[in-house]
Amino acid sequence: MRIVLLGAPGSGKGTQSQRLVERVGIPQISTGDLLREAVARGTELGRQAKEAMDSGRLVEDSLVLGMIRERLGEPDARRGFILDGFPRNLAQAHALDRLLEALKQPLDAVVQLEVDSRELVRRIAGRRSCADCGRVFNLLTSPPSGAGAVCPRTGAPHRLMQRPDDNEATVAERLRVYDEKTRPLIDFYRARGLLQVIDAEAAVDEVTARLA
Ligand code: AMP
Repeated sequence: MRIVLLGAPGSGKGTQSQRLVERVGIPQISTGDLLREAVARGTELGRQAKEAMDSGRLVEDSLVLGMIRERLGEPDARRGFILDGFPRNLAQAHALDRLLEALKQPLDAVVQLEVDSRELVRRIAGRRSCADCGRVFNLLTSPPSGAGAVCPRTGAPHRLMQRPDDNEATVAERLRVYDEKTRPLIDFYRARGLLQVIDAEAAVDEVTARLA
């Protein structure tokens, strides 16, 4: 299965990708996670991406495309993948087409997670991730609980952190950028007969069931 999860920040792409990974056993490829890792490791790519990320703008296409080309070439991506947060604009969508054509691995579907903008802001305010294993939680909708409260990396309770770009000013810019640059991809993929729209306002489990 080769799919793109499309949706505004806070629409649940990361959470639903993680659940699909567990269910289908194919990798989640999140350009946001890869970029945050590069920033944390202090690589040249991270250094170049950081300013755009901190201000809520898109990182330059050439940087993101180089990164995604490399990631899609790794052996685990041959069985399929879930693209989370990529493509983010039409230029990236065209580049992805060319890349997948060369790999002879066309997309099966593009799933758009549809969520009202007031709900997006509410969800982003509650979003936390574990500093050790990276798992995403939401204090309001899906807090750590039961066996899932223990971090598989450390064996201790998850160390919950808020992303630096989840502050109010940056979130407003990220939502604006989504409307301007990413939303046009909905029509792009609809015209290719690949688009499936899911009402993602429901509880996490219900949205997962709709994805099945
Ligand atoms: P995300 O975790 O998907 O919300 O991404 C966090 C930030 O990383 C975004 O606000 C952008 O600055 C950057 N980013 C992630 N994916 C992309 C992409 N495909 N193209 C450009 N910038 C990206």
